Amino acid sequence: MTAKIVIIGGGLAGLSAGYHLADFEPVLFEKEKAIGGLCRSFTQDGFTFDCTGHLIHLKNAYTKELIGRLLPHAFQSHERLAAIYSKSTTTPYPFQANTYGLPADVIRECVVGFVESMQASNGDSSNFYDWVLHTFGRGIAKHFMLPYNEKFWKQDLRTITSDWVSWSIPKPTLEEVVDGALGLTNKGMGYNPKFMYPENGGIDSLPQALCRPVKNVKTEEAVQYVDPKKKYVRLTSGREEPYDFLVSTLPLPVLYQMLKDTPDSLKSKAQQLCAVSVLNINVGINRPGISNQHWIYFPEEQFIFSRVGFPMNFSKSVAPEGTSSMYIEITHRPKEKVNIEEIFDRVILDLQACGMFRKDDRILTRHIIDIECAYVIFDQHRQKHLQDLIDYVESRNILTAGRYGRWDYYSMEDSILSGKAAAERILKTIKDVTRHDHITTSECTS
Ligand SMILES: Cc1cc2nc3c(=O)[nH]c(=O)nc-3n(C[C@H](O)[C@H](O)[C@H](O)COP(=O)(O)OP(=O)(O)OC[C@H]3O[C@@H](n4cnc5c(N)ncnc54)[C@H](O)[C@@H]3O)c2cc1C
Repeated sequence: MTAKIVIIGGGLAGLSAGYHLADFEPVLFEKEKAIGGLCRSFTQDGFTFDCTGHLIHLKNAYTKELIGRLLPHAFQSHERLAAIYSKSTTTPYPFQANTYGLPADVIRECVVGFVESMQASNGDSSNFYDWVLHTFGRGIAKHFMLPYNEKFWKQDLRTITSDWVSWSIPKPTLEEVVDGALGLTNKGMGYNPKFMYPENGGIDSLPQALCRPVKNVKTEEAVQYVDPKKKYVRLTSGREEPYDFLVSTLPLPVLYQMLKDTPDSLKSKAQQLCAVSVLNINVGINRPGISNQHWIYFPEEQFIFSRVGFPMNFSKSVAPEGTSSMYIEITHRPKEKVNIEEIFDRVILDLQACGMFRKDDRILTRHIIDIECAYVIFDQHRQKHLQDLIDYVESRNILTAGRYGRWDYYSMEDSILSGKAAAERILKTIKDVTRHDHITTSECTS
């Protein structure tokens, strides 16, 4: 069977689908000038910036083998150096297991609160706010978990479900909390104690490598709508592309806006899926060693940013000698108008207020990216309707893949694997159809 396969989106998920279907020469449409999606890198004035930090942590044997094969010897391995800046001091990540150095009354509240939470009955922890209190106790909740997450998610934490937290937020034992309070540093906790990063070229080298066998990549081609009945996609350029199989890595609400002949009730459910946006300010500074950390969290309200990272500590190649580079993350609600210049001025003041910037530091370059759909919000609505929304799309023979196609908290590895999963489903259908055709042909000729 010759199958016409169309893929929407040239991020890791779309490229992975293309890579795993390369023998069928799928056509991949990407609306931007270059492929890569969130894993694009931008080089400017000698600095290479990613969309904030994009660090690789692999759990799956297949992705380890794939990435090793695509980019042999390209990565450096790092032991995470992350910190929290609060109460005018810096403590190691994670906060909950490293309170030493904070004011004594804060440490006391954190330790006593943790012990109390262990003694209390578990209660209902289905929303994120309650989960934080039950898991960490009132002190850790008050001094880090609640303010940081309120700043990050930009909404009442009681409206966020707790079904995404089990792997992403490290839960310490009592021994770890006590050790951390006494200054016996707890290292290596959480899902990313070590990570990999390309020695050269920024994270972009990963999508570029995945793209190599994908022949029909059409950049600056934005899909405008999808007609699942007649099986074609229409692009804003006016081009129409028929397909037998379609893989979409578009954010699910965007795909629903583009789908012809779709029940309004489903369209409106899709529009209620929520995400937060990230304004990513990247800067190059005229001084080396501005920090020795990989990234620092800022839970306190007086700082506009929630996290600041230092790409020059991921790879020497991303910043010229004698300089430093930073990414600054500020979350906001999608569609909220952001005044970039006002925010930029505030960022500089806040960096000075926490002592990271000196008055005589000079910004050599800046690169600003507003990521509209950055972090999917896990809420009741998602919990209730996501499966129906995916099932309906699949019933129209469209496979969704990637962080936003599946509307999930996917890492780069997860996105690559979901593109592969979509490809495998297509390959299986093609194989089944070919076998069926073969059987019917031999039945006819026998
Ligand atoms: C701020 C941030 C930091 C992150 N840090 C890490 C990290 O450190 N480690 C990690 O493992 N993961 C990280 N991730 C997750 C990682 O970025 C994603 O899992 C992965 O890049 C998603 O790939 P994707 O292909 O699913 O989506 P995307 O990269 O969003 O790709 C979708 C593509 O579709 C294109 N597109 C959109 N509309 C159209 C249209 N109409 N027509 C054609 N093309 C279109 C887009 O331009 C884009 O290229 C981070 C994510 C964010 C937001």
